[in-house]
Amino acid sequence: MNETGIPLAGVIGDPIAHSRSPQIHLHWLQKHGIRGCYVPMPVRSDDLAGVLRTLPRMGFVGVNVTIPHKEAALAIADQVSDRAALIGAANTLSFDIDGHIHADNTDGYGFIENLRSGAPGWRADSGDAAVLGAGGAARAVLAALMDAGVPKIRLMNRTRARAETLRDELGERIEVEDWAEAGNVIEDSTLVVNTTSLGMTGHAPLRVPLDGLGPDHVVTDLVYAPLRTRLLDEAEEAGATVVDGLGMLLHQAVPAFERWFGIRPEVDEAVRRAALA
Ligand code: NAP
Repeated sequence: MNETGIPLAGVIGDPIAHSRSPQIHLHWLQKHGIRGCYVPMPVRSDDLAGVLRTLPRMGFVGVNVTIPHKEAALAIADQVSDRAALIGAANTLSFDIDGHIHADNTDGYGFIENLRSGAPGWRADSGDAAVLGAGGAARAVLAALMDAGVPKIRLMNRTRARAETLRDELGERIEVEDWAEAGNVIEDSTLVVNTTSLGMTGHAPLRVPLDGLGPDHVVTDLVYAPLRTRLLDEAEEAGATVVDGLGMLLHQAVPAFERWFGIRPEVDEAVRRAALA
């Protein structure tokens, strides 16, 4: 913290204008009457290391890190949590009094908390999980599902080799299936997770067969813009329990806010509205 006594935090990425993290943290700061600040900061890759070494000296207690800096931030950090090391990326950095950078990744925590609160009936041991996509977000989801005790995760990605790399790095409970088999795998699973960017505003829709979905399925989409994707709409029509991706974004912010500002905030309707505003 600096001489003003006002703890500063923020989010760095490139681009950064789309980030909803400022709305979330500013809502909680106001709610709890904390005289802190949270700012979006566009930072180019070439500047990342310099910026991260300077922020603690300016009074920053930490920052969130988003695309494209999540892997690079992990490499720059002085200390890395086990879950960030496993995922291979950081989304939350905290600075200690000497300016040392501690890297963590709370995406997996956010994913599982959102799933548990949106689908309270879901149990990790209730069946296989079908996971679509093998990008950066998938790593956190896979680590969280394995940690929660899901017996088997059937992973599909357009580029199969990327899914195989994740299986090799993360564990034997992951089985790689062909993208073309998605309809059958979804039908035979109890949990379905879209971690691809398909369905996101400005991207192509997710076009995998969904006719195998029914009331025994829990379906969650990491895409939260739009909040209701075709996957969630069709799953709900089929009677499945659906969980949107906004909750993951809200829940991943909880440990960071607590670490920086000393209060554990609640994920409620008010912060959902703030994030959507
Ligand atoms: P990423 O690393 O770029 O990965 C993108 C994934 O989407 C890859 O698996 C990619 O497959 C797949 N994909 C892209 N275009 C495709 C297409 N036309 N057909 C089939 N597959 C396609 O992105 P990410 O960081 O993992 O993020 C993925 C999504 O999750 C984004 O929408 C992001 O906003 C969202 N997300 C949400 C949260 C949250 O808190 N709710 C957190 C993190 C991310 P290939 O490997 O074949 O290219």
